[in-house]
Amino acid sequence: MKSGVLARYKDYLNLTPQTPMFSMGEGDTPLVRSRTLEKETGCGELYFKLEGCNPTGSFKDRGMVVAVAKAMEAGSKAIMCASTGNTSASAAAYAAYCGLTAIIMVPEGKIAPGKLAQAIVYGAKIVQIDGNFDQALHLVLKLTETHPVTLVNSLNPHRIEGQKTAAFEIIDVLGDAPDFQFIPVGNAGNITAYWKGYVEYYKSGKAKRRPKMMGFQAEGAAPIVRGHIVEQPQTIATAIRIGNPASWHKAEAARDESGGIIDMVSDAQILEAYHLMATKEGIFGEPASAASLAGLLKLSRQGSDFSGKRVVCIVTGNGLKDADIALKDAGQFARISPKMEDVEKMLGWR
Ligand SMILES: *Cc1c(COP(=O)(O)O)cnc(C)c1O
Repeated sequence: MKSGVLARYKDYLNLTPQTPMFSMGEGDTPLVRSRTLEKETGCGELYFKLEGCNPTGSFKDRGMVVAVAKAMEAGSKAIMCASTGNTSASAAAYAAYCGLTAIIMVPEGKIAPGKLAQAIVYGAKIVQIDGNFDQALHLVLKLTETHPVTLVNSLNPHRIEGQKTAAFEIIDVLGDAPDFQFIPVGNAGNITAYWKGYVEYYKSGKAKRRPKMMGFQAEGAAPIVRGHIVEQPQTIATAIRIGNPASWHKAEAARDESGGIIDMVSDAQILEAYHLMATKEGIFGEPASAASLAGLLKLSRQGSDFSGKRVVCIVTGNGLKDADIALKDAGQFARISPKMEDVEKMLGWR
């Protein structure tokens, strides 16, 4: 049985004897070795960290379990977040498990159907606004200040604490930190959390080195790369469709302290990586998750040398959440009669 993030990493989390201990099975996600793209990108070793294997299908569960445990410890009965989808799915599930009310605010029409379905079925109170994520977050921050409900966006420090455990797992499996970690950047909480995890394990002697953090935003939603807020962020990768990241400065610190970069990839590059990851590695990540590999492909094509290096790409969420993208991108399937002959003809066997 999986012990979960709270029990497994209790020594590294800010828990007290009063913190309720529970798990929906989050964490301990697979780190799988690449079979094909490792050679294509010229990496010494390339691994994918499959965060889509968490209970609600994204890394958000790691932070949510800690945030919800601490909210309960403080006596809270309700949690609230703004979300591009995965935070709300996770908040709704953990609230259901713990008997709390979840209130989620989502941007109208810009949330992947699978994620909305999750929030609905877990029984969250859903507020859709005619605006974008940044506007939703602004409202939620104000509301949680003035009402008895706990904020569970990544501005809640317990979210970052929980999410840093993914870096611990990578080191626990590989025996040391990788040389490079590629990661999508949206609200920038996750790059912040990984860096915190790597630094803590390094300081405690569990790792001898720290990776370069390679963050990637979508071109139409790249405020950190461009150096200014993007008022109308646009990208098919809805999970990183954010124009004013809450952890902007912490992400820059992670980049600078690690000697890494924060760069951007186009939607075309994201979609290419999305398909390559699925067809060459058998990994179905959601579009935002493909920004990691898109970034690695971009740099290796520009001539960056990863030979002899250990590289990890974080696959942040499960592709089934946003199956519409896969279907829209596909051509028409041939439709034929249910006759053996016709099937064989179609397959070119006759
Ligand atoms: C939340 C999320 C991201 C972006 O993470 P940030 O912490 O907002 O930078 C990327 N991919 C997926 C699947 C997500 O759910």
